[in-house]
Amino acid sequence: MVFGFGKKGPPQPDDDDNEEVELVLFQGATNGTEANLSANARLVQAGLVRAKELVSDALSRRAEMIRLEPKGKVSLATFFVDGIPYPGNRMPPQAGLAITQMIKLLAGLDIQLSDKPQSGGIKAEYSGTPYTLRVNVNPVQGGGERLVIRAENKTVKLTTPEDLGFNPQMRERIRAMAQTKSGVLLSAGPPMSGVTTMAFAMVRGIDPYLYTVYNMTDVEGRDLGHVTTFEGNPDDNWVQSVTRAKRAEADVLYVGPIRNADYCKEVFEEAEDVCMITEVAAHDAASAIVQISAWLGDPKITAKRLHGVIGQKLIRLLCRKCRQAYRPNPKLLQKVGLPPETKVLYRPPGPAPEGQPEPEPCARCGGTGYYGRTGLTEFIEMSEEMKQIVAAGGDAVAIKAQAKKEKMQSLNSDGLRLVAAGKTSLEELQRAFRSK
Ligand SMILES: [Zn+2]
Repeated sequence: MVFGFGKKGPPQPDDDDNEEVELVLFQGATNGTEANLSANARLVQAGLVRAKELVSDALSRRAEMIRLEPKGKVSLATFFVDGIPYPGNRMPPQAGLAITQMIKLLAGLDIQLSDKPQSGGIKAEYSGTPYTLRVNVNPVQGGGERLVIRAENKTVKLTTPEDLGFNPQMRERIRAMAQTKSGVLLSAGPPMSGVTTMAFAMVRGIDPYLYTVYNMTDVEGRDLGHVTTFEGNPDDNWVQSVTRAKRAEADVLYVGPIRNADYCKEVFEEAEDVCMITEVAAHDAASAIVQISAWLGDPKITAKRLHGVIGQKLIRLLCRKCRQAYRPNPKLLQKVGLPPETKVLYRPPGPAPEGQPEPEPCARCGGTGYYGRTGLTEFIEMSEEMKQIVAAGGDAVAIKAQAKKEKMQSLNSDGLRLVAAGKTSLEELQRAFRSK
């Protein structure tokens, strides 16, 4: 095994635990490039064990992202666990450089190049779990590169509509919208909030035996279930491909994300006789509607063609092992909108009472009080009243007010449901709404 020499050295006399630390296995670049280790023996010697230790440390702490960057006279690692940054190791700049170069080599990137962004990936295994490590390097001001590694656990799948918080009524509504063979259904949320996963779930929720559904975009190897990718003519532009798919009896098309005015206009124009499902980056569902109207240049088109928007935000779940129950104050319940009969809520453990020693941090969550995340969902449907508000150019506040009036599922109501069920805390709900 080429990468087999990654064990830590013999324990030093001052090591207080002689436990052998488990190290990640690197199993090759995702682009198939063979890393030439023998031609880079000095780099391997300086960087391989360090790179393994950094990645193993991060994965053992459940980090989904690692950032390593030069900061002043040191290289600084930051681990992101459930979306929250935690400071990792500080190291001399040569060590940071060796790790960055080593990861580039393993990811099949050009190690001679340091002034241009590059991206790739590494197949890896840690503690019996397969991962894909997505690697990005970007030059930073003042010299050096910023390395970002995103760890995708290949065994975690959050793709069924139920996993994503779709209730049966929501699922039924999505089906009814698809059935109209026209209009646009959107998934909206901030970057990295699972917007694409949500859009996939919407497509997958449609019955393949009743409707012809085609994927029209590059899904980068992700699994779209029963949905067939439409094989058009490679010389066709987007509108020509869509026209061909319509001739092939398409009911629903999954198309690439809306990112600009021209493409937005095409999607809404072509949605006259096929239902389009896609995504847009936006703070929430109401802002997505406002953005779409701005791109279309006419809110009446939004009102006419849009079926609805499902918004999503990620929120951390309380650690089941160390969460602490408390009796909420009735004023607080009233203020946040929880039923007055709520007897118990949960929160992460607080600091030890004065004079008492701090307890050992929880082994399951590492003392953060949270373990894993879930999505909050909101669903803004274009009811007759909502259409009128949107067509008149109503802003996000007006759209949200109408959604509330019609008791549509909101991020806040979905979040409170999780708080009442003891799955997350009020503090976390407030944090998730403060962050963009
Ligand atoms: Zn815990």
